[in-house]
Amino acid sequence: MAVRDIVPYLENEAALRKKSEPVSRVTRRVKKLVRDLKDTLNDPHTEGIGLAAPQINVHSRVVVVRLGGGGDGENEPGPPLALIDPQVIEARNEERDFDGCLSFPGLYAETVRPHYLRVTGLDEAGNPFDRVFEGFDAVVVHHEIDHLDGVLFIDRVESLEDLYRMREDENGKVVWSTAVTHQSLVQVLAETRLAANVEPEMRRDIDGGDAPAGDRELSCVSVVASPAHMETPA
Ligand SMILES: [Zn+2]
Repeated sequence: MAVRDIVPYLENEAALRKKSEPVSRVTRRVKKLVRDLKDTLNDPHTEGIGLAAPQINVHSRVVVVRLGGGGDGENEPGPPLALIDPQVIEARNEERDFDGCLSFPGLYAETVRPHYLRVTGLDEAGNPFDRVFEGFDAVVVHHEIDHLDGVLFIDRVESLEDLYRMREDENGKVVWSTAVTHQSLVQVLAETRLAANVEPEMRRDIDGGDAPAGDRELSCVSVVASPAHMETPA
């Protein structure tokens, strides 16, 4: 049992941006990496449905995903499945869906990702696989494979208005807010490619972000249909 620390973006962006090395054989070292990723994802404090090796500061092409967690939010996702040296063979049916990341606690977004993904790679036993992921499973697998190339979900956000922050209010109620006016996100956005695309007007809004006047507080239900995966970042 080895639960590893997950690298937060704000503390170590370099670790998350570094590209991972190919894995051609499932060695003892790779098996240990798979175990650590599974233990970390299974940890009750983690509350995620996907984890990639760079998120525990290991730069080998290995991810773990929990499938079947999308839909109406009533489905309990399955146990972690390892995808070793995954390669996307085919990606289509791009749609907007919910996205979040264990390296960005409390930050969520709508992104556009393929909902049909054909992937090849190796399973834990070292056998080749060739399988299709569909719907939210495809979103999760795509998000994790992105990590292996140093691509983060904030890179796939088209507009700051697609970003949301989740926090608990003084009564412990979950509150979703549009993120753009929160000072807490200034640091995140300033360093992303997204920031380069921000309109000057909106940038002023961000820079003056300590005033919560423009902050539209929205209940969870009013933002989207509140599927379970909103609270289970990949
Ligand atoms: Zn992630």
